[in-house]
Amino acid sequence: MTNCIYIVGMGPGSEKKMSFEAKDILEKMDVIIGYKVYLDLLEEEFRTKEFISTPMKKEIERCKICFEKALEGKKVAIICSGDAGIYGMASLMYEIKEQFYADSQIELRVIPGITAAISGAAELGAPLNHDFCVISLSDLLTPWEKIEKRLVAAASADFAIALYNPSSKKRSHYLKKACEIMEKYIEKSRPCGYVKNIGRDGTEICVCSFEELKEESVDMFTTVFIGNSSTKVIDKKLVTPRGYNRNE
Ligand code: SAH
Repeated sequence: MTNCIYIVGMGPGSEKKMSFEAKDILEKMDVIIGYKVYLDLLEEEFRTKEFISTPMKKEIERCKICFEKALEGKKVAIICSGDAGIYGMASLMYEIKEQFYADSQIELRVIPGITAAISGAAELGAPLNHDFCVISLSDLLTPWEKIEKRLVAAASADFAIALYNPSSKKRSHYLKKACEIMEKYIEKSRPCGYVKNIGRDGTEICVCSFEELKEESVDMFTTVFIGNSSTKVIDKKLVTPRGYNRNE
């Protein structure tokens, strides 16, 4: 029997920022599986569903539950915040399928969501309106040396940068460490910013200089933005020009 598991990006948090497609699919599901923090955001809206959560670092188990439930014939969705294909569960679901459920008739479908870089950028103005890079500072799954190389490459190539996972309890100094690596390429006055709890209660928006950013303590629910060399502050917002006025 063919069954389909939906891998759904729910956007940054509030239902308003979820796509119609994502909402429509979640409404049709029997089981919604995810990390508890995200399920809590959904629970009120989709009260009739079976919710299954596994803690952080139990991602493989979470994926396997999806396949097991789908094999029972249930309609299953696994949810991620933002987009499921950006530091989300989409790739792991494909890998688990290949490794453990290759012979099953289960099909995987990824439903896009607004990732934090995009929803956060909108809060700040237009910081990513030219070429940009997204880099995660989490070294749980990526060696720090590789993260360092990517920071240097992005800063030296003058990309605007969105930093995910800028901090956690164990990595509270990582943003400072990252700024120190990039300061060779980025002047102290470069406009930067961050947004905490995008699309959720307690949203906090900050525009600051690169020098100030280095000293900021941000948490794991924050996305950090570093402008490129053309980024400026207009009307208290962070704006990276496309360059339309260059020849006027
Ligand atoms: N799949 C998610 C990213 C997961 S990685 C997405 O596409 O958005 C987790 C990191 O994403 C966090 O540490 C933070 O940097 C960022 N993030 C996710 N949701 C956020 C939110 N609502 N507000 C601010 N940052 C968020």
